[in-house]
Amino acid sequence: MKVNVVVIRGVNETEIADFIEWSRTENVQIRFIEFMPFDGNNWNTEKKVSYKEILEEVENTFRKDGFFKIEDQPNDTSRNFRLKGGIGTFGIISSVTNPFCDTCNRIRLTADGKIKNCLFSEDESDLLSALRRNESIEGKIRQAFKLKHKERGGLLEFSNEEVSKHKNRSMTSIGG
Ligand code: SF4
Repeated sequence: MKVNVVVIRGVNETEIADFIEWSRTENVQIRFIEFMPFDGNNWNTEKKVSYKEILEEVENTFRKDGFFKIEDQPNDTSRNFRLKGGIGTFGIISSVTNPFCDTCNRIRLTADGKIKNCLFSEDESDLLSALRRNESIEGKIRQAFKLKHKERGGLLEFSNEEVSKHKNRSMTSIGG
């Protein structure tokens, strides 16, 4: 069972150790996710708890020798760890401070029929309308692959100013 925990400063950053402790006795995969900007979620850089900060919290609570790195699978989005003697695992998804775009193989199809080639992409390709017109969608799919940016949909700087200029859907309308 995977449990995604979006860590937001002032909301739940004090619960990191409790979630990890859970993985000691239960076969759960806890995945801490850096808070990412999407429409309507009131993101700002101050609310973000980084990979480095999460790892420091883990080291402070469980000591450096109390947990260890485990092998990540190709295209894994999280960097994964296990407590010594633990049954489950925990990992960190660092899309903001330390992205893994170079191994990303993700393409999303939204519930309203649009291809989104990155979580942060502004552009979408409308497959549903093409299908309803009985048109081939292969070209649109290939084009969406080609237009995928090297990193984070072309959003390279996560300052409040840059993020406010970037258009994106809310996470709930993208889908997990
Ligand atoms: S390319 Fe986009 S979807 Fe893929 S890892 Fe980077 S930010 Fe996430």
